[in-house]
Amino acid sequence: MKNFGLDIWANKNFIIEEGEVRLNYKSMPSLLEITKRIRDNGTRGPLLLRFPHLIKKQIRSLYSHFYSAIEENEYKGSFNAVFPLKVNQFPHAVTAVVQEGKEYYYGLEAGSKAELILAMTQTPLGANITVNGFKDKEMITLGFIAAQSGHTITLTIEGLGELETIIAVAKESNLKVPNIGLRVRLHSAGSGVWAKSGGMDAKFGLTSTEILEAVSLLKAAKLLDNLSMIHFHIGSQMVDIAPIKRALREAGNFYAELKKMGANALENINIGGGLAVEYDQYSHAKSHNYSIEEFSSSVVFLLGEIMDAKGVAHPNIFTESGRFIVASHAVLITPVLELFTQDYHEKLLKFKKNNPPLIEELRELNRLLNNKNCIEYLHDALDHIESLLTLFDLGYIDLQDRSNAEILVHNIIKKSLYLTASYNTDELKQLQINLQERYLINASIFQSLPDYWGIKQDFPIMPIHHLNADPLRAASLWDITCDSDGEIGFNPEKPLYLHDINLDEEDYFLAFFNVGAYQETLGMQHNLFTHPSEYTISIDDESYSLQNNVASKSILNVLASLGYNEQEILNKLKTDLQKSDFITEKEKSDTLTKLETYINQNGYLRTTN
Ligand SMILES: *Cc1c(COP(=O)(O)O)cnc(C)c1O
Repeated sequence: MKNFGLDIWANKNFIIEEGEVRLNYKSMPSLLEITKRIRDNGTRGPLLLRFPHLIKKQIRSLYSHFYSAIEENEYKGSFNAVFPLKVNQFPHAVTAVVQEGKEYYYGLEAGSKAELILAMTQTPLGANITVNGFKDKEMITLGFIAAQSGHTITLTIEGLGELETIIAVAKESNLKVPNIGLRVRLHSAGSGVWAKSGGMDAKFGLTSTEILEAVSLLKAAKLLDNLSMIHFHIGSQMVDIAPIKRALREAGNFYAELKKMGANALENINIGGGLAVEYDQYSHAKSHNYSIEEFSSSVVFLLGEIMDAKGVAHPNIFTESGRFIVASHAVLITPVLELFTQDYHEKLLKFKKNNPPLIEELRELNRLLNNKNCIEYLHDALDHIESLLTLFDLGYIDLQDRSNAEILVHNIIKKSLYLTASYNTDELKQLQINLQERYLINASIFQSLPDYWGIKQDFPIMPIHHLNADPLRAASLWDITCDSDGEIGFNPEKPLYLHDINLDEEDYFLAFFNVGAYQETLGMQHNLFTHPSEYTISIDDESYSLQNNVASKSILNVLASLGYNEQEILNKLKTDLQKSDFITEKEKSDTLTKLETYINQNGYLRTTN
């Protein structure tokens, strides 16, 4: 797996050249160079790099595939999309989404009051706002205010209570009434971890009986002309296209039935999000079974077919895919602080003029090992080490011999495991697990990869340099939290191999890809590790620039954000040190300066890395 599955998950966004990972775009900067440039100014700890050109690429891909499908199928409705804010609400992600989506009138979706306020301030007039999720009267009133302020906004109701509130607000005020959408509860459930969004027992949506009632409520309130959309969302990261198609058929028929019942203003069908992203580094474990081409043409074809059969005009299509748009734009880079079993490095071998015969044999096995003989040689080596350990116990070989034997066998096992990665016998699996190297990364999995911790979502992981050399070490990654869950264990089914690096001599940086969706807001401050230092990387033909730096929060700011008083903390530290004995005033004041420096930096480790 020398290219770490780049051909599977990277969508040609990154390439390997001269042993380094580069952006496959314009001046093609290398991730290592960007990382070094940022670290040159003293930044330490994990980095989050945002690449807005990758957001642009995904928005274009979404629109252009739907545009082509519409043309090919002679579909009469239009295509529209909104970005669901819950996927990433951070300013430099949202700004990039809005900026890159302008030419398409790409809008925003909100699922809470705070997100709605964000949508009202970030959505360009003319682009759509859709609002989902549970709403109270205030949130509904905010929707009216948005409409009054010139936004094209659709409030999707999740239950009849919300509709009654909309009717009440419309009666009480003269504010412009927003468009109304109905979320339909589909019997065709989704698949995947998030399946609960669809299905009869779904958390959201109106049953068919409720939909009939909604229509009579709207009619009675003379608001039927505001009913413009029906909506469904069957779950995130839909791995299989079959349930999507079932849901489309069902929702399409809901739409057609409503039209026939006289919902004349109804003209949009919103198919929610759920477009999957490839997270897998191993082809045998690909995480979804369809492409954007297949998705867009299935949606357009099916809707056209249903409407034609029922003699109903083709609706405009809305999508709310979020993961698909932003997952790829952010890359997490973490320095490796330590390898825990450096002790077995071949450099530490110290042979004598005359070595015991078994050690000479191990040397030969190690030297001549190749992919044809490795299983046989591995067995010989395991045999020899048993004998050598017995010889040590009996006093026939000394400590230096034993050390040489252990290093040699360790290396023989390591190399054979790498050479036989596909054999997967129980013996090899066990050896692999026993021999894994533990890489300590200067990051928190809870903060930066919460979905790995919470739902075992894999992310592509690879070093950003040293890629000319074969990675030989079966690797598990430990983060710097004091929590045993802060670990990405070695998985023999999806083995991650990394390089054997002498960290005293060189750096080793790992990158985690496709972390732009959901990870940032779901991330938590376990052990008070806060968000990584963030940069937006804007790439042009000649070069690239670092923009929008958001520094990782300082220790003092983290404590303040929990509600502690900064000044009290500073005073307490100062007076305790002032009162202490046995050091000079000069030493006290130097120590105080040090202390102040420390607490005004982020809390990630600042050893050589
Ligand atoms: C979460 C959500 C989305 C986005 O889902 P993705 O899988 O990120 O595309 C879209 N619509 C609604 C209603 C949602 O709740």
